[in-house]
Amino acid sequence: MALIVQKYGGTSVGNADRIRNVAKRVKAHCDRGDRVVVVVSARSGVTNELIERAKALNPFPDDREMDALLAIGEQETIALTAIAMHALGVPAVSRTGPQAGIITDAAHTRARILDVTGGDLKAQLDAGKVVIVAGFQGISQGGQVTTLGRGGSDLSAIALAWALKADVCQIYTDVDGVYTADPRVVPDARKLDILSCDEMLELASSGSKVMQARSVEFAQKYKVTFEVRSSFNDEPGTIVKDEAPNMEQILIRGVAVDKNQAKITVTDVPDRPGVAATLFSALGEEGIVVDMIIQNIGRGGFANMSFTVGKEDMHRAEKISQKVIKQLGGGKLEVSGDIAKVSAVGVGMRTHAGVAAKFFGALAKANVNILMITTSEIKISVAIDPAQADAAARAVHAAFDLGKA
Ligand code: ADP
Ligand code: ASP
Ligand code: MG
Repeated sequence: MALIVQKYGGTSVGNADRIRNVAKRVKAHCDRGDRVVVVVSARSGVTNELIERAKALNPFPDDREMDALLAIGEQETIALTAIAMHALGVPAVSRTGPQAGIITDAAHTRARILDVTGGDLKAQLDAGKVVIVAGFQGISQGGQVTTLGRGGSDLSAIALAWALKADVCQIYTDVDGVYTADPRVVPDARKLDILSCDEMLELASSGSKVMQARSVEFAQKYKVTFEVRSSFNDEPGTIVKDEAPNMEQILIRGVAVDKNQAKITVTDVPDRPGVAATLFSALGEEGIVVDMIIQNIGRGGFANMSFTVGKEDMHRAEKISQKVIKQLGGGKLEVSGDIAKVSAVGVGMRTHAGVAAKFFGALAKANVNILMITTSEIKISVAIDPAQADAAARAVHAAFDLGKA
């Protein structure tokens, strides 16, 4: 008898048949005597559709109102899933994020979790009920509905697993687990049985949307082990935990592609100490995460700098950069919303030489032009033309022999 938190993503609850499938899977656990908390996403496509509807009315909708709108998506699925469970004779009750005590800060559309009280979840479980919780949403201390950033239902599940001290946390999705690359992009990608939290975090923050990066960050911080697996079969998935075995021997674990990057270039600003500090602290204060940075040697007393941000932050970053340029005494701004990032991730990189050479060699052979480069201890990334991103990922994947045996 275990306490299990299961999260079902958008495709897994995409229509009535799939919701019924989820209900049946949960019932099988109940029949074995497990206690189950189910976290569900909105049906696939619903969140995007709601965003489009808002933008048709106003290209820059207010963040608070967006949260009020987006929370609808998950609220539909919790009720439908509970109703489907009732049809199978299983006692179940739905709870919204606020009702489940997901307490966040007030940063609408990207709120951070401050506390998880669990609301009356324990009491409901003790009363023999399955509790269906809306993912992706919480409540600010001021009582406003908030959302946790795109893909945020993963975070809801991991945070609840931590708060309830669940025995098992399972993330059910439309692939069999975490692969060496997105199987839709790299056909011979291989499913990984086990992965360290560090590697999962780098893959997720490099664009592998199978897990929301912030959810992995939470799992790493609070040591929550979780499993990514398919809601369409009973195959074992990928275990993501603190330490994965044989980590030193494995050079590269996976390749990630992110086509949602934007590049901002600031040129001809007066070159003096503090240019970078002024620019990046202004961006940081507004919560904009800057990824890659290149600074060219100033010529004729002027400095040039390029950096990348997520495409969703492009307009805000542009506005802030414009202000900073003025403040610094003039310069030019150029923005491109058409940038992709391809990354290779693996803890073995820490101790092995030649990774960069092989990575760049593969890109050169595939005729890919590199715009920017960044590295971390366990990751190497390049910014390139999105039209070449998939081919680049396949080339790197092949160069490191990550494919099926
Ligand atoms: P859910 O709606 O269940 O949260 P997502 O669409 O957010 O599902 O994430 C699952 C998708 O992530 C897969 O369909 C796959 O195309 C994509 N993906 C990207 N990188 C990977 C990877 N390394 N392994 C598995 N899936 C990946
Ligand atoms: N429905 C939200 C989204 O599409 C959250 C999620 O699916 O995890 O981003
Ligand atoms: Mg997802």
